[in-house]
Amino acid sequence: MSSSAPDAPAGTSSAPDTPAGTPSAPDTAAGTSPERSRIVHDLIDGARARRPRALGRLISLVENNSPVLREAMELMAPDTGHAHVVGITGSPGVGKSTITSALITELRARGQSVGVLAVDPSSPFSGGAVLGDRIRMQKHALDPEVYIRSMATRGHLGGLSAAAPQALRVFDTAGFDTVIVETVGVGQSEVEITRTADTILVLNAPGMGDSIQAAKAGILEIADIFVVNKADRDGTQQLIRELRNMVALAHFAPEDWKPPIVKTVASAGEGVPELVDEIAAHRTHAEKTAAWQARRLARARAEVEALALGVVRQRFLARGEDHFEAIAADVRDGRIDPYAAADLVLADL
Ligand code: GDP
Repeated sequence: MSSSAPDAPAGTSSAPDTPAGTPSAPDTAAGTSPERSRIVHDLIDGARARRPRALGRLISLVENNSPVLREAMELMAPDTGHAHVVGITGSPGVGKSTITSALITELRARGQSVGVLAVDPSSPFSGGAVLGDRIRMQKHALDPEVYIRSMATRGHLGGLSAAAPQALRVFDTAGFDTVIVETVGVGQSEVEITRTADTILVLNAPGMGDSIQAAKAGILEIADIFVVNKADRDGTQQLIRELRNMVALAHFAPEDWKPPIVKTVASAGEGVPELVDEIAAHRTHAEKTAAWQARRLARARAEVEALALGVVRQRFLARGEDHFEAIAADVRDGRIDPYAAADLVLADL
């Protein structure tokens, strides 16, 4: 299969895919085996060649928290950190997927390759929830320099804190210049995923009830760039004024990046070149200061922490409900205190 022949439209590779001609899925085999190792190596080679099927399978492995993930991650580790990760967040309907599609067009015009990861933290399956986004992005489906994929994270050992960075690693292995992480759904988990990004865009739009919708979700502080989308609508200037006032109230040291406010009409591509310029400017600024490496360190720390805690939890659950019954009874009857009991449990794991 050639790398320029996607076997499925962008974003549709969420089925539990088994590679053609492979007798068994690698994640069903326990332990390590030469056969499984070969399959994982083939997948990584396929990802390096940007083959959609290999990319889709690797992200499925992340999604399903497959036992072969460990070997895959080891092989992919040296590729870490290539892509500029751009996170997009904002209320439903604000224009996230429209702007993602417009960003792809602009970045491609500048010769960049682009990956898109649409994360759905609430669902154990990728698919349904982001169908609308996929349809909107279909025009990029046949471009071999673009790969779009949705991912559900509920089944992952480390939850989305580990799943999102791991999926990004798959995109890094494929050498995409920019990876856009778009979140589906709102709330704390959305903030968490966006934090895995190097540059965070917070979208607002006029005429959506509250003037600054993001204020509610508590995501204003994390914005690197404010985007006022639907600037063809009434209320745009008012919204820009409010955002400007808010930025003016925040404290910035002279060397800090001060979030710019970019006006867009995503559906017409207006303001998108300026947005891409600001994204690049943010990167340049962050790389000059310690911010770039600091954010990536925070991402790695959160990932490792989530994995480690996930392993502890898994071992705890694997012991079965009865295993700690004696200790629980001791706590119940006041023979030992709960901290001492927790120490015993941890020592046992
Ligand atoms: P999401 O839920 O945040 O991903 O929002 P969508 O990208 O699905 O956009 C929601 C709706 O707003 C769609 O009908 C878009 O066509 C429309 N839309 C997106 N950008 C603009 C814009 O700049 N101006 C106007 N008027 N409509 C837009």
